[in-house]
Amino acid sequence: MKIAIIGTGYVGLPTGVGLASFGNDVVCIDKDEAKISMLKAGKPTIYEDGLEELFLKTVQSGKLKFTTSMKEGVNGADVVILAVGTPPHPETKEADMRYIYAASEELAPHITGYTVVANKSTVPVSTGDAVESIIKKANPTADFDVVSLPEFLREGYALHDFFAPDRIVAGCNTARAAKVIKTLYAPFEGKTEMLFVKRKSSETIKYASNAFLAMKIHYINEMADFCEKAGADVDEVAKGMGLDKRIGNRFLNAGPGFGGSCFPKDTMAMALMGEKYGVDLSLIKQTIKGNAARKLKMAGRILDMVQGVEKPLIGVLGLAFKNGTDDVRESPAMEIISHLIEKGARIKAFDYQALENAKKVLGDKIEYAFKAEDVFEGADVVAVLTEWPQFKELDFEKFGALMKGKKIADFRNLLDGAKLKKVGFEYQRIGIL
Ligand code: NAD
Repeated sequence: MKIAIIGTGYVGLPTGVGLASFGNDVVCIDKDEAKISMLKAGKPTIYEDGLEELFLKTVQSGKLKFTTSMKEGVNGADVVILAVGTPPHPETKEADMRYIYAASEELAPHITGYTVVANKSTVPVSTGDAVESIIKKANPTADFDVVSLPEFLREGYALHDFFAPDRIVAGCNTARAAKVIKTLYAPFEGKTEMLFVKRKSSETIKYASNAFLAMKIHYINEMADFCEKAGADVDEVAKGMGLDKRIGNRFLNAGPGFGGSCFPKDTMAMALMGEKYGVDLSLIKQTIKGNAARKLKMAGRILDMVQGVEKPLIGVLGLAFKNGTDDVRESPAMEIISHLIEKGARIKAFDYQALENAKKVLGDKIEYAFKAEDVFEGADVVAVLTEWPQFKELDFEKFGALMKGKKIADFRNLLDGAKLKKVGFEYQRIGIL
């Protein structure tokens, strides 16, 4: 098939690479000229495990191309995939639809022949109707259908999830569009559950799923608070709960709160959609409130560990919102750091992939370390805020000797606490006394 993908971010690029690897002719379109120049020069613009290799392979095979021109990409396409951002609106905090609407208007004049416009961006219910109207208005003779094709990939596992998704959901209001989507996903037939539903159901499935997962994380974080008071161990509790197949063990890791480019904005958008339709989504609203408070609480715990120290130096291991990605959007680490700076702390931070993105946000407000061990030097406490598995391998005994205070705040429950305590560290983790 000939496929155009509008938006080459964390969703658009891995999707383009994956679809091209099946032999489709894929053109990735982005209005960001710097991104397109970099991609044309053979360099992926994001970090994802395994992406660079497959990216180069598909580019060399001629199946994956890049352009800033809508015309070049959309002309003759069987499927046009929308993968532009839907960040929270700066004032209302609802999903900001300006990129979706602009892209729909820009693509419309270039539709040739029957085209399926498939929306992979996370969008409020009834966006499909709005996109349909925009295209119709801009190009009244266009022959097209709008489909909701929500994306469930996890950053850090984008390619893995592209090739082995738990399910594919497509919201198609016509049989003709459903046929095109079936062809698009033919390589998954017999391997992955494919669910064809009404367009509005599909749009809802995405938000309802993300809000549920966010609630699950918040639930175990509240249990962690309980365990700390009651003398239980949240890791043991989570393990015991997760063995129940009805619950499952994923998204039950207690930590510093959820973050990233999806859960915070999607829970907020879902809660506001509830308000719009007069439905009190109280569980989601409480999750949002509790998660915001959690990051403040984490910063407070770190400060308690260095009480009495003037302008404490806090070493931070991890800036990305989770391991395996360079994304710092709404990262708990970044928010905790901001709170700590406000309280007069000095920060020296390290991350395996996210240093550059963090610099764009925090600038010279903090110091950046180029090796994990550098955050220990002179630090009053070191906080583990992203669960990079490499942190487990660090020689804490050796680096601890470089610290001013031998203290570790392990807010990802990553390290061997007993071992650290044995070699003289004051050690704190989540959900265990
Ligand atoms: P992103 O910000 O990384 O990328 C969006 C890209 O779209 C940018 O490169 C931007 O320049 C481009 N763009 C915007 N308007 C354009 C236009 N008119 N023409 C051409 N290009 C345009 O966003 P993302 O993280 O890939 O997310 C995209 C969508 O997918 C969002 O709705 C998000 O909620 C959803 N989603 C994201 C993830 C994730 O893990 N990041 C997972 C599932 C769903």
